[in-house]
This record gives sequence, C-alpha cells and structure tokens, in this order.
Amino acid sequence: MLGVALGAAARLGAQQIRPYQPAFDVSDYTIAIDVPDTGSFIRARATISVARTQPSDTLTLDLLDLDVREVSVDGRPVKFDRRPETILVPLPRKAARAEYRVDVVYEGMVKDGLIARSDSAGRWTYFGDNWPNRARHWIPSIDHPSDKATVTWRVTASPSKTVVANGKLVSSKGVRVGGVDRQETIWRESKRIPVYLMVIAVAPLVQVDLGDTACGLAEAQRCVAQDVYVAPEQRGGMPGPFSRAGEMVQLFASIVAPFPYEKLSHLQSSTRFGGMENASAIFYADAPFRTNSVNEGTIAHETAHQWFGDAVTERDWPHLWLSEGFATYFAGLWTRAARGDSAFRVQMDRVRATILADTIAVTKRPVIDTIETNLLALLNRNSYEKGGFFLHMLRSQVGERAFFDALRAYYAKHRHATAVTDDLRAEMEAASKQDLGWFFDQWLRRPGYPEISATWEYDSTAHEVVVGVTQAARFGAFKFPLTVAVVDSAGTAHRATQQILAVGEGAQRIRIPSPTKPMRVTLDPDVALLARLTLVEQ
Ligand SMILES: [Zn+2]
Repeated sequence: MLGVALGAAARLGAQQIRPYQPAFDVSDYTIAIDVPDTGSFIRARATISVARTQPSDTLTLDLLDLDVREVSVDGRPVKFDRRPETILVPLPRKAARAEYRVDVVYEGMVKDGLIARSDSAGRWTYFGDNWPNRARHWIPSIDHPSDKATVTWRVTASPSKTVVANGKLVSSKGVRVGGVDRQETIWRESKRIPVYLMVIAVAPLVQVDLGDTACGLAEAQRCVAQDVYVAPEQRGGMPGPFSRAGEMVQLFASIVAPFPYEKLSHLQSSTRFGGMENASAIFYADAPFRTNSVNEGTIAHETAHQWFGDAVTERDWPHLWLSEGFATYFAGLWTRAARGDSAFRVQMDRVRATILADTIAVTKRPVIDTIETNLLALLNRNSYEKGGFFLHMLRSQVGERAFFDALRAYYAKHRHATAVTDDLRAEMEAASKQDLGWFFDQWLRRPGYPEISATWEYDSTAHEVVVGVTQAARFGAFKFPLTVAVVDSAGTAHRATQQILAVGEGAQRIRIPSPTKPMRVTLDPDVALLARLTLVEQ
C-alpha cells in the first residue's frame, strides 16, 4: 500500500498482536454477509475449512467487537468460548492432519475492517480495509499473513449498490429477503491470499471497462480483464490515470510471470491508505479521484503488489519489505519502461534522498525489524524506500541476468504461498553463484548506510585523478563498489569502479585515468549506491 494516514498508528498501537500458532491451516473461507442499506449493522456466516497440522483440541479464531450467535463444527453446534478478541472452538478428536468445517454465525455493529460510511453525496458505502490485522473486526479468521486461503464472498445488499470483491464474479441475482428486494452477488478467489487482502466493496459505483490487457500473460485465462469502479460523478474523468494500467500489467508480467489472479479491478474507495493492494481488487483513496490527482506511480506500486505481497506474501511482519520494497522498486521499473533511464535515475535519487532524510526508522532499526510490535509503524522508510533501493543494489551486485532469473525463480517457488528474506537470498545465490549472506546482512539486518566523504587530487605524473574515500563510524563500516566519474579539460568523461572495503580506519584510494586535471569529479554517477556522499572540493 501507499500513504498511511497519520494518527492511525496511535489508534492501533496498543492492540495486542496474538502470535501465530501454526497448529492450524485454513484452506478456504466462505463468507455470506448481509450488508445493510444504511448504518453499520452486519449479519454474517463464515464457513472455514481448516486442517489441524499439530496436536491441539481447540481452534482459536480472531474476532473482535461482534456477537457470535452460533458455532458449529462439521455441522454440529459446539459450546464455544467467546473471549474479547477471539473465539475458542473445541474440536472433536480425529486423526492427525484432520480437516474440519467450522461455521460461525455472527452479527453486530462493525467498527473497523469493513468501513461503513456515507460519502460526500450522503450515499452509504462499505469498503473492506484490513491491513495489517483489522480483518478480525469483521471476519472470524486466522488473521496472520502466514495463513493464506481461498475465499468465496456471498454478499446480500441493496440492488442499488455495486458489489465487487476478490476473484471472479460467479453470479449476481435478485432475491427476496423478508419481503424486500435484495441482490445476492457471489465472487470467488480461487488462489490463496492472506486475510488482510480479503475485501468487498458495496457502494453506488459505476464500472469503466479497461478491456482485456496483457493477453498471453495471464495465469488464469488468456488475457487480464481490467476495469475501474468510481462514484457516478467521477465517470467522466476515466480512464484518465488508469489509461496505462494495461501496459503496467504487461510489463510486470513480462518481467516476472503471468498475472496471478482472475481479473484486476481498481476502485475508488474509503481506504485509509493512499492505495491498498487487495488481491485482484485494488482500493484507492477517495480524495485524489475528487481532485483529479490519482498518481500513476501509485497505480504501478499497487499493481506490482499483485505479484509481490499478494501472490508471494511475507510469512511474517519483519519481512514486510518483501512486499513494500518490491512494490517501490517495480514502480521505478515502470518509470524506466515508460519514461526512460534518466527518469528512472531521478526516481532512484529521490528514493535515496528520502532514506537519507529519515530519522525515525532508517537510522535506528534494520529493514528486517524483529522488535517492532506496532505493525503500522512498519510502514516506514525501511520497508519501502530502503527495501526498494536494496533491490536496486542487489541487481548491480549479481548482474542483470542473474537478478531477474532469480526473481522469477523466487516468484515461481513461493507463488500463492509465503516467503521470508532468506528464500530470496537462496535464489539470488543460486543464480549468481555468489555467497550473499554478508550483502543481505549488511543492508537488511543493520540500521543505516555508509557515510562517505571523499577528497581528490590530480597526479600529473601518472595522469590520474586520485580519490581518497573515508567512511564515517556512525553505522559501522560497509563493503560496496563505488564508481567515480571525471570529466577532463577536453570534456571527455572517464570513470572507474572499485570495491571499498569494510574498514573503518583511514582512506581508501580510487584512481581514475585522466590526461588532464579534471573539470568535474562525480561520486556514484549512476545512483547505484545507498550512501551519504560528500565530496570535499579543494
Ligand atoms: Zn505498498
């Protein structure tokens, strides 16, 4: 996602995060939900297919706020224990790796997760907004990214509203409920996704068809059907910023692998984030639609998440960069494809400047942060910009071919499943035949970045520019290649790249051949290195 609303972190900060207990594995949720015409009172039944993977006689489901009316296991009502944040469901004895069907009937005023509110025109709208662990406000679930499952949505709502959810539209038909006309809409996501991406939209939206895109590059069928859903008064401005959505899917599919889901919808919504990458149904913040300022970079970022974050999901929160760092970098790759190398360099320079300006996360915590318990605080410059710049440096470290081969292998191995950072490292090592433990540790398991100051002088006997490089001690010494470019008095450019060793003491020298004293010396001309670079002119 992009652009977390401030204040949200404080609100959720105190919430208890229950560590995931992998004694159970949910394979499917079927959620039948009755969404009202106005207000926030929902009625629902969740049918959960779950396998027991380790000995345990109780299934713990996350659910806040709502009243649980009935729980049954394999069709038989059971005496469940309703706790403030969970439901404890007793399970009958069965063999190891037994499978159960658990039904939970529940209702109440939904407070979060499904955002019920009236829009600026006074129309009631309902949008799921689960990240990171707010699905438990409306979906009884194992609400942890490690447990991915398929989901069927059976939504009953006013016929005046449009219902969109994950996956493929199965059916939509009028039904009579208590003498009232209602519409029942069924969507089915047949690929396993984490609970934080399971959403519905129930709102007076109009559909703008973007047509078939990325033909030949879809996993489920030949092309990827794309559309945009907006409030009726926004229809005139469409497809607007979404006019290149097809090219984005085409690009990422050709770099990585076929698009993983049944369709790709883009929705104007009430998400608190700038954009939220819900699998096959991206939700965007409402305000930019109303000011015609939906950003193409946001669309590229959320679209890239369909592969990284959605199809390959971080197994636990400290590895969030596998989602956000990838989306950040792939938005850069979109810029490169759409607007060229110099625009890409400008973007990476901006990413680097953002990292260097940060005093909250980058200077204090490593990217893989195993200490932070406030999940919203993980939406920081480490997970996004530093993770993205890490991929940029990794690409230089292993080379273009190995980098993209390894990305494809990593994706193929963990698609519709989960991964941790070492899974990526293993593929990069296999493709490059390099030991990369030091590289991943240096950039992802330590805070900060190199702080380099350099001086130069011209050796007129050897006809060389001699650059002396020293590292500041603040974050310890790093090992990295540094490129220096010079322009001689005739205007000709020369450059040299040298490994700078991880030694704290003394200057290391880089020699660049130059027939004359240079007019200009530039450190890291390609924006390839995450470092604070200071050239002391003399
Ligand atoms: Zn993101």
